[in-house]
Amino acid sequence: MDFNLSEDQLAYQEAARAFAEGELMPNAAAWDESKHFPVDVIAKAGEMGFCAMYSPGAIGGMDMQRTDAAIVLEELARGCTATAAFISIHNMALWMIANWGSEQAVAELCPKLVTGERLLSYCLTEPNAGSDAASLRTSAKLDGEHYVLNGGKMFISGAGSTQVLVVMARTGSQDDGARGISAFIVPADAEGVSYGKNEPKLGWNAQPTAAISFENVRIPAHYRLGKEGEGFKFAMMGLDGGRINIATTAVGTAQAALEASSRYMNERSQFGKTLANFQALQFKLADMATELVAARQMVRLAAFKLDQGDPDKTTYCAMAKQFATDISFKVCNEAMQIHGGYGYLREYPLERYVRDSRVHQILEGTNEVMRMLVSRRILQDGATEIIR
Ligand SMILES: Cc1cc2nc3c(=O)[nH]c(=O)nc-3n(C[C@H](O)[C@H](O)[C@H](O)COP(=O)(O)OP(=O)(O)OC[C@H]3O[C@@H](n4cnc5c(N)ncnc54)[C@H](O)[C@@H]3O)c2cc1C
Repeated sequence: MDFNLSEDQLAYQEAARAFAEGELMPNAAAWDESKHFPVDVIAKAGEMGFCAMYSPGAIGGMDMQRTDAAIVLEELARGCTATAAFISIHNMALWMIANWGSEQAVAELCPKLVTGERLLSYCLTEPNAGSDAASLRTSAKLDGEHYVLNGGKMFISGAGSTQVLVVMARTGSQDDGARGISAFIVPADAEGVSYGKNEPKLGWNAQPTAAISFENVRIPAHYRLGKEGEGFKFAMMGLDGGRINIATTAVGTAQAALEASSRYMNERSQFGKTLANFQALQFKLADMATELVAARQMVRLAAFKLDQGDPDKTTYCAMAKQFATDISFKVCNEAMQIHGGYGYLREYPLERYVRDSRVHQILEGTNEVMRMLVSRRILQDGATEIIR
């Protein structure tokens, strides 16, 4: 067992850190303030290979292990949480197209998606189908050589500013549940696709979130991913990796908060001493650091399980997502407390870390849903022997 990063991993980490410190960190506050989606900087990340990290080399991807991609995303999030999170979603949706897209669709669409010149949204959630995503109602009906989509999606990251959508829609009946769902590629500007407003929200302001409506949207049949009925399975397979991505994004944000706290405790004086002298704060900082290391290792363990194709990868990914995002929010909140009133001001990044890290407990499956997935497995015979 070797917990050290390999030479390759250290090189990825260094490249991502330099990119984050050069391109993301100096701009993150302004992007948050002005709700600016930095598509030009995301394209620069694409030049580094960060928009197609774990997609196969055959489509121009980096073919990285999930453990390696987690290391990169953590560094990017240390620079700008919202931008790193969007890059993670783009990677997830691209991986789905690369794996299950038809040869024609891959050849047509992937070159510019790999480079980040064109961006992707992942469209699963609907107004009445959130945690219970398998109850979704957007329909896709085959009509000759085309599918015709009708319905609507909610809370879609990047919506309105992305060029390609991966949409889960129902080809079977409502009674078919998850088995009646297929996945499709939809050009974002196809006739009949319309967008809601950019939702005003607590954090993640450097990327838009909007509803999408589909009204008789015709897409060629070769834009279906895999076979009819496989879409929900693909969506969930995408989310195994997506949850590692969100978890590592959470860790990166909390790392930035921890670093700021350590610096601040050494600088700020009250009662004639630096804050670093107060044991109550020392213990707080120690707990933050300890829990963050535990979260990072949990994320890497889950990424390793996914890389290995472990039969319990979904359970580990759910554990990592829940644990790391809960710890991340706690660490960011404690870091704000250490900064006192200054932590609450926009002038410092702490309040942004708190706002940005909060949503990680909600999306890509809420942390209650993560606990459902984990407990469902743990209650099975012999599971406690295997999941450890
Ligand atoms: C900023 C943002 C970006 C997003 N981006 C995307 C995106 O790009 N693509 C996409 O498809 N979706 C996206 N989402 C949607 C997100 O995945 C959903 O919000 C999430 O899955 C929860 O669904 P919901 O909001 O409908 O809540 P609900 O499912 O209505 O849940 C409400 C509450 O009930 C709890 N709950 C529900 N069922 C149970 C249960 N059985 N047991 C215990 N508790 C339960 C939930 O945990 C939650 O606390 C995004 C959301 C946000 C906020």
